[in-house]
Amino acid sequence: QPEASLARPAAVLSMQGVHHAFGKHDVVQGVDLDVAPGEVVCLLGPSGCGKTTLLRIAAGLEVLQQGRVALNGGDIAVPHGRHVPPEKRNVGLAFQDSALFPHLTVLENVTFGLKGEPPRERRRRAVALLEQLGMAGYVDVYPHMLSGGQQQRVALARALAPAPQLMLLDEPFSSLDARLRDRIRDDTLHVLKKVGAATLLVTHDPEEAMFMADRIALMRDGRIVQTGTPRELYCTPCDPFVVSFFGEVNELTGEVRNGRVQTPVGTVGAGWLAEGSQALVMIRPEALRVVEREAPAAVHRYSHVIMAKLLGRSSLLHICAHGEDGREAHLHARMPGVFLPADGQPVDIHLDLSQVFVFPSGVAGAGA
Ligand code: ATP
Repeated sequence: QPEASLARPAAVLSMQGVHHAFGKHDVVQGVDLDVAPGEVVCLLGPSGCGKTTLLRIAAGLEVLQQGRVALNGGDIAVPHGRHVPPEKRNVGLAFQDSALFPHLTVLENVTFGLKGEPPRERRRRAVALLEQLGMAGYVDVYPHMLSGGQQQRVALARALAPAPQLMLLDEPFSSLDARLRDRIRDDTLHVLKKVGAATLLVTHDPEEAMFMADRIALMRDGRIVQTGTPRELYCTPCDPFVVSFFGEVNELTGEVRNGRVQTPVGTVGAGWLAEGSQALVMIRPEALRVVEREAPAAVHRYSHVIMAKLLGRSSLLHICAHGEDGREAHLHARMPGVFLPADGQPVDIHLDLSQVFVFPSGVAGAGA
């Protein structure tokens, strides 16, 4: 046995070389993706990049056009041919608009898929799940009496109840307001980990993906751009698109000289880029540490604050930075807590290089 296969258990879901087109529109273009037992993988990406289509192919709700889809190592679909129907895949589905059965109570909705078990056991299992998702008090209520967020939680419990080997979740928290969403995400993650379900979760929200995922697969235009742990994607992004997907970023350009690029806020290593080429320097607002200082009497050019705004847990500063080379740049800096220097306040700026990323200028990806 090769070492890699010993280290990583066989995938519950494995997709290889999957392509999908609607008419002439190629929506999924050669995707490889595995979900290991007990692992939560988030498919993350902007609207329209093909996340939902990929999930629907895994569920069997879209016909496989090209590639392989396997559950526990066994193919479940032949391109344009025979496939195991969705209800026979032992897969739990919860979609954004998952409808509950309107004529059944919450408890009956959740026990619906639990065939072949004594009624008492079915009820026990359903009530336990509803409790874990904060819905214990609604067992005998009908769906129309619930809020959208409560209905989503019941849909999640219904999908989890048969203890499926694989959970496929499409934006399952989208209709929850911000405060409730944090709690339900937390509860859902606990349930998924307790049940040990392999999970593929679609979201367009990077923070949600970072919270939920063991691994994130970031998609763009039908392709996976980078797969890795949240930390890998955030700290070692493979291209400008990945950097900018995780939040606002300052972009500067400069020429590579002696393996370095000079910017108005400091010098950055770029030894792997061609000497004399143009580099794109991406600086997260958190990378700029701003310190108030006295205005020097003799030198007129110094960095200063243009405007400072309190955002709550952090403060956003619009800074005009002056480099030693005389270049000037307007940048956003984010400082923790309440830090509101006056407009025009002279400042020193320190650069945290762990939050700075350098790419060849002209690489596709930034700002999408
Ligand atoms: P969102 O986050 O907005 O749901 P997504 O990343 O999940 O986006 P998909 O829903 O997979 O993206 O859609 C990808 C592309 O395929 C979009 O351009 C969409 O308009 C198109 N598309 C999706 N379903 C169909 C369909 N049944 N027929 C034709 N085009 C479709």
